[in-house]
Amino acid sequence: MNYNIALIKGDGIGPEIVSSAVRVLEKIGERFGHTFTFTDYLMGGIAIDTCGTPLPRETVDGCRASDSVLLGAVGGPKWDKNPAALRPEKGLLGIRSALGLYTNLRPAKLYSALSEECPLRADIVEKGFDLMIVRELTGGIYFGERGRREGKYGPEAYDTEAYSVMEIERIARVAFETAQKRGKKLMSIDKANVLETSRLWREIMHRMAEEYPDVELSDMLVDNAAMQLVRCPSQFDVIVTSNMFGDILSDEASQITGSIGLLPSASLGDSKCGLYEPIHGSAPDIAGQDKANPIATILSAAMMLRYSFGLAKEADAIEAAVDSVLKAGLRTADIIGSSDKAPLGCTAMTDAILAAI
Ligand code: NAD
Repeated sequence: MNYNIALIKGDGIGPEIVSSAVRVLEKIGERFGHTFTFTDYLMGGIAIDTCGTPLPRETVDGCRASDSVLLGAVGGPKWDKNPAALRPEKGLLGIRSALGLYTNLRPAKLYSALSEECPLRADIVEKGFDLMIVRELTGGIYFGERGRREGKYGPEAYDTEAYSVMEIERIARVAFETAQKRGKKLMSIDKANVLETSRLWREIMHRMAEEYPDVELSDMLVDNAAMQLVRCPSQFDVIVTSNMFGDILSDEASQITGSIGLLPSASLGDSKCGLYEPIHGSAPDIAGQDKANPIATILSAAMMLRYSFGLAKEADAIEAAVDSVLKAGLRTADIIGSSDKAPLGCTAMTDAILAAI
């Protein structure tokens, strides 16, 4: 099969880690008889510098016309003081919205080879964990009305959270279906003791649960969920939550796996064209030094094969290769903790994964 993949390398370590994932996809293409055609598009800081906008029209059109999008990361100190419309993240929110990507899937699992990197207590680590966060991505407070105004105590700022029944129903459907394919347990996380949007969220989750009798649905308040993720992460299978709660909880979940450099994500909508990216940022502190861990981006490419192209065997081959290099004690500098071997750079880690495929 032939697949057209749009590449958005972005800023900082983006070009290094995306190039690693491209090498892995090419190897998979050779081994399984597929052709991947890659086209580069600009977004983020580099697009601001080159085209004067964080999300050029050509990038949106090119991504829409492709079978899927692989993204590195955007942003960096150079653009931190720019006005809101000229910030790299504007590109990120814009492309998610332009492609109608309302679901963000973020798996977080503890690799047995990395149990010593996990910052949790030994008895918690022993139980392991393997969870999937389903985060709503195009609604809620990140897209609500905001501004500055004169308030009761003088000048004030405000942000608003709104969720429609339709937005909650469609993310609920993805979450229940994801749970059906995994351990059949779904935890819906909200703040229903305070927020009206959360009360609607909870109401709809329970109504939809009637359509999925094989899935066990529970609710948890977000403050408790933040505690439970470090107290007993093994209790979770699939978590579904709103945009802002998902943003925060998925970063917390990433930290307990050992390193942010390991975790992939998929953003999906109603079409097959998804956007796949590591959960970390552009790591400007190590950019251009061949120190970045490419694993999160390589695993994002594996998610692309699985979720957008239906190539499960090929995705399994990538995941097994990552597993085997970690079991062999190979580490990049961000996960060096328990290994006595010298850390590998981005290129050498990619070479090791290619050799294991
Ligand atoms: P970051 O994730 O870029 O870096 C946090 C720390 O983790 C740094 O010490 C970095 O060196 C390290 N790190 C991250 N990824 C790594 C990897 N693959 N290998 C080895 N080490 C890695 O977060 P930050 O420092 O808060 O943000 C830096 C820039 O990235 C900011 O401009 C921010 O806005 C942007 N950002 C972009 C995205 C995105 O594009 N999706 C996400 C988060 C942050």
